Amino acid sequence: MSKKIITFAHNQSCFLTFPTTMTEKNITTKIQVFSYSELSEENKKLVDLAREATQAAYAPYSHFHVGSALLLDNGVWIKGANQENAAFAGICGERSAIYNAGANYPGVAIKKLAVTAFTNNEFVEEPCAPCGVCRQAILEFEKNAPHPIEIFLIGREKIYRLASIASMLPLSFKEF
Ligand SMILES: [Zn+2]
Repeated sequence: MSKKIITFAHNQSCFLTFPTTMTEKNITTKIQVFSYSELSEENKKLVDLAREATQAAYAPYSHFHVGSALLLDNGVWIKGANQENAAFAGICGERSAIYNAGANYPGVAIKKLAVTAFTNNEFVEEPCAPCGVCRQAILEFEKNAPHPIEIFLIGREKIYRLASIASMLPLSFKEF
């Protein structure tokens, strides 16, 4: 009973003080689209490793084999792949890679990250994008780094490049 009254009062207050002039904001994201042959040798290696990493996925439930690759500032390359289990408490390919980096090379920034997926006996047609949880995790690594993390989303033919994970997570949660 008392809870309902409090809620009502709160709504009334919001209604009375809500601005009467509505404005709009547009959020734009710049994505560069490459074919594999247009990439630098370093970026080709990143893509190759992400594709190779799909083979290490353990995905008996989703059959969606995600592969990820990182290049760290110290020159180390790291691969990651999704690891599922029957309790649906597995981990995505991207976080598998970045947590590996965090555990083995603490304090070393991630220079580049790539992700792709293999399912139904072929690589996905459209460039593969990280889930929301992975975007937040990558963002926190980026926040603690001295520079943005270049992101490569790999499809069968097209490869998207974003200059920062922040491009994929506008209006992000930054209370940390
Ligand atoms: Zn994810």
